[in-house]
Amino acid sequence: MAYVITEACIGTKDTACVDVCPVEAIHPSKEEPGYDEVEQLYIDPDACIDCGACVPECPVEAIYAEEDVPEDMVKFVEKNADWYALSPEEFEAKWGSKGNTL
Ligand code: SF4
Repeated sequence: MAYVITEACIGTKDTACVDVCPVEAIHPSKEEPGYDEVEQLYIDPDACIDCGACVPECPVEAIYAEEDVPEDMVKFVEKNADWYALSPEEFEAKWGSKGNTL
């Protein structure tokens, strides 16, 4: 289980969540390469410890526990995981947006 960033983050990329995450599971931050190019932020499901601290920080309520992701946004579970698991080229081919260049 992990928390998942969904549709509302696209074009928002507030990063308040990045600042409160105790295990640095959310990327990219504003200081990291690729921040300007990615369409949203992503939670690493292998790093997330399910603390929930990021949820109330998000100004657009984009973050859900995996089991609570609304049905029409379930694809974001896979998209968040893919951003960390796939090469930038693979991610961009599959999702049509900037992959992980960290
Ligand atoms: Fe980080 Fe906690 Fe949010 Fe997981 S639930 S991404 S550990 S702040």
